[in-house]
Amino acid sequence: MSDRPVVTRIAPSPTGSMHIGTARTALFNWLYARHTGGRFLLRIEDTDRERSTEAAVQVIFEGLAWLGLEPDAPPVFQAARAERHREAVDMLLARGEAYRDYMTPEELEAERETARAEGRVVRSPWRDLSPNDAPDRPFVVRLKSPQTGETLVADQVKGDIRFQNKDLDDLILLRTDGSPTYNLAVVVDDHDMGITHVIRGDDHLNNAARQTLIYQALGWEVPIWAHLPLIHGPDGAKLSKRHGAQAVSEFDAMGYLPEAMRNYLARLGWGHGDDEIFSDDQAISWFDIADVVSAPSRLDWAKLNHLNNHYIRQAAPERLTSLVAAIHESRGRATPAAQLAVLERTIPLVRDGAKTMLELADATVFVLDQRPLQMPEKAASLLSGETPPRLARLKARLVEAADWSVPALEGLIRGFAESEGVGIGKFGPALRMCLAGGAPAPDLAGALVALGREESLARLDDALSRAA
Ligand code: GLU
Repeated sequence: MSDRPVVTRIAPSPTGSMHIGTARTALFNWLYARHTGGRFLLRIEDTDRERSTEAAVQVIFEGLAWLGLEPDAPPVFQAARAERHREAVDMLLARGEAYRDYMTPEELEAERETARAEGRVVRSPWRDLSPNDAPDRPFVVRLKSPQTGETLVADQVKGDIRFQNKDLDDLILLRTDGSPTYNLAVVVDDHDMGITHVIRGDDHLNNAARQTLIYQALGWEVPIWAHLPLIHGPDGAKLSKRHGAQAVSEFDAMGYLPEAMRNYLARLGWGHGDDEIFSDDQAISWFDIADVVSAPSRLDWAKLNHLNNHYIRQAAPERLTSLVAAIHESRGRATPAAQLAVLERTIPLVRDGAKTMLELADATVFVLDQRPLQMPEKAASLLSGETPPRLARLKARLVEAADWSVPALEGLIRGFAESEGVGIGKFGPALRMCLAGGAPAPDLAGALVALGREESLARLDDALSRAA
């Protein structure tokens, strides 16, 4: 196995959403393939014809594309390969590694009860009967598994797991309608796709024993297994709806950036020392299955938020602008082209505190609001007494300002406060009210720069004319 180039895969069943656990599995497979210079493939396990809609398949493509984990070849669709699965069963029958089992449902039920009473697994009498005795009635095809000894799953994460063969019944490979069963299809597909490493959730550990027996019966090389511990909720319980988001699309909708998700998911079950923040390139150069831990990992929203804030602060303003514009649009507020530049100018001024893209969008609402702004009730008391004439004097200085930048405007505001003999607190909240109408806004100079000179002065005029 070691001399073959690494080929990994994910094999999601299209169920309508892409679970965060599938995303983590995809990431680990992708990282390992990239780390070893191998390939990362995708197989859609769409044999459940009722659930596997085109839309559900699309959700997987979109989830992987959003996460930036594109496979290296077009996807393989499992349902389309049923003929090939049956061909493998024919091979097994020809080799005497499988047999047709003609037990009727009633006979099977009776055998089940006897087996239960005797504390053993179900055994079919057809295992040892010759095909010449075959009756003319429906049959399933079963694997002729060894009944003694053990099957070793040498798992790269869990260690050596031994399964006693006497506890494994003869697995059904083809149902009475000739349809291939799940474990058979997985083995044939993984073999044909040249998969060298099966990295997946540890809910499939028992299947690994079954699948090992099928590989051996077919005379095929068994892949290297690596079963990942599940992701648990922050309370240590199995991840469920009550822990909040579970689908990749929900994390997107909540305003998490894909690079933050990649960094975060990489830390769920794997790590490189104490490094919390790392680039894709670093993860690729460091990632090794040997460093995956076998204990379940817990979702930690505070850590995810911290990472997301980090990546929001790093991201190119143009990219954040189109993401923020899309959020505003989804909320019914289209951003005309002329306003995109305003958004882009605003984002660097407000992004430091944003944990998600939704928060970033919230922080930019004030620049998109149309004049005259809706003022909350408390505006009237803020804009009374000495304040309106003072703001009018400030406005005169702003009109003259030579440099409309944050440091210059900070200086101007400080200088103005000194000349008035008051602290900034005396007029700052009122100025902010004029500029943002009670919506969240950055510091005064930041709000002025975000709005630009013309809009800032117009908003001040609006507010002062109302106060007059
Ligand atoms: N289709 C399986 C699932 O969605 C994955 C099978 C595998 O990775 O072998 O859980």
